[in-house]
Amino acid sequence: MTVGIWILGDQLWSQQAALKSCDSHQDTPIILIESLDFVRVRPYHRQKLVLVWSAMRHFAAELREAGWSVTYIITEESVEFPLKKWIQDHQITQLRVMIPNDRPFQQLIENLQLPCQLNWLENNHFLWSEPEFQQWSKRRKRLLMEDFYREGRKRFNILMADDQPIGNRWNFDQENRKPPKGKLNPPHPLEFEPDEITQETIEQVKQLSLPLYGKIEPFAWAVTRQQALEVLQNFIEQRLAFFGSYQDAMVTGEQTLWHALLSPYLNLGLLHPFEVIQAAETAYYQNNLPLNSVEGFIRQVLGWREYMHGIYRVMDADYSEHNWFNHTQPLPEFFWDAEKTDMNCLHQALSQVETTGYAHHIQRLMILSNFALIAGISPQEVENWFHAVFIDAYDWVMQTNVIGMGLFADGGILASKPYAASANYINKMSDYCKTCIYNPRIRTGEKACPFNVFYWDFLDRHREKLKSQGRMNLVLSHLDKISENERQMIHQQAENLRSQF
Ligand code: FAD
Ligand code: SF4
Repeated sequence: MTVGIWILGDQLWSQQAALKSCDSHQDTPIILIESLDFVRVRPYHRQKLVLVWSAMRHFAAELREAGWSVTYIITEESVEFPLKKWIQDHQITQLRVMIPNDRPFQQLIENLQLPCQLNWLENNHFLWSEPEFQQWSKRRKRLLMEDFYREGRKRFNILMADDQPIGNRWNFDQENRKPPKGKLNPPHPLEFEPDEITQETIEQVKQLSLPLYGKIEPFAWAVTRQQALEVLQNFIEQRLAFFGSYQDAMVTGEQTLWHALLSPYLNLGLLHPFEVIQAAETAYYQNNLPLNSVEGFIRQVLGWREYMHGIYRVMDADYSEHNWFNHTQPLPEFFWDAEKTDMNCLHQALSQVETTGYAHHIQRLMILSNFALIAGISPQEVENWFHAVFIDAYDWVMQTNVIGMGLFADGGILASKPYAASANYINKMSDYCKTCIYNPRIRTGEKACPFNVFYWDFLDRHREKLKSQGRMNLVLSHLDKISENERQMIHQQAENLRSQF
């Protein structure tokens, strides 16, 4: 039997299951394939293509150095032809592949009718395997993140003293919502000078004659495991202490504040979630870091990230088609071009995404997807946009975050209420409104902030549906205090705004 290994573009870890299953470096051929076919699906951010391809090329070089025999294919077409040819050329009888994170890709591989046996290896890039998550979810009526997170803390013994959480509380969210008052001085993110491989990849992406999005340079992302480990260390030493307090804050010109900037590397396999969690936990004990920050961060990785992945894997394949509010408005043009909006918060977040492919969680949730939700934009168009423009976007993380958390298009499978907010929230948690042409305090008239217009319009349009969500009753009672006349004006203004998209 001749075993071959196919390493996918987001499985770049020397301990990944398929590599781990083979002892003999010399005798096991490996293939990595860069296919332009995937780039035709949507106009990806140029830096995302550079990141993935450069990281793949660096990983292939590292494997060669470690003694593996590596074939690296760059193809204009689909993966099928080069893969089958390589199987035949190397007389491979069994192809080992670690189960892809993204389900459509797994289906694509299954449909390839390969000329050899296909052996799937359980994906070990997450702490919870798919069968383990299934086991956990089978036992419950509602799949609450908080329950899952607590189970994870106990199971992996993270921030625990016997069977109790350190600090005697599971959750420090109340302490983690500081508005950005006064001058904040967040550390500058670690940046990496593109090496020869990355420069070559940048040139190649520049030459592509396909519709793409965003600025390609300056490109400052890490592209190897070694560099990703430096980003982790930099986060632990310089950012983690304040991560919690300013987790929800947004400040003009400050793209990351104290956020970790780790998702691109976790999602490519350059870092493993467990080492990231352990690094934060160790820093808590050794460096005496504030518990609200350390717990808040561990909650993101051990809780949210694992939970989102688990839910994605156990939901029906049509999860991405959900549209609970029946929203059909096309995505406004300005999502692709920040210059085309005069709403300062959107302008800030969108320009940042154009320049870097990154926005932090609250910008994604409370500016970008909040706007899409309350303006009534089609969830599928929104998901496609997020998937195209973010540096860390993949099918598995997109569906649950955009369809479930951001847009509540699944009707509450994932979130307990829609993350819908007016300008009040943005004005409190950011400095964006100070320099905006709109007034965050008014909801009708020329100067009214569109977030206010759309927010009240959204609540009124979906009043009946929202009544079924217990946690919405308080805001619906505020809606009842607005006169019929004003509500009509709000609807009219919302329609006018939509017609200008
Ligand atoms: P930090 O805020 O520092 O958090 C630390 C880590 O926790 C992140 O690196 C990430 O790995 C993990 N994490 C936190 N929240 C989530 C979550 N909800 N889902 C998954 N992981 C989480 N995350 C992506 O990895 N890719 C995406 O394409 C993506 N799109 C999103 C779209 C929307 C509408 C929303 C609301 C969230 C999205 N997220 C996505 C989740 C989260 O916003 C990003 O993981 C985070 O902003 C990445 O930046 P960071 O590494 O600085 O994160
Ligand atoms: Fe955004 Fe409205 Fe504030 Fe302007 S006033 S920044 S549009 S929330």
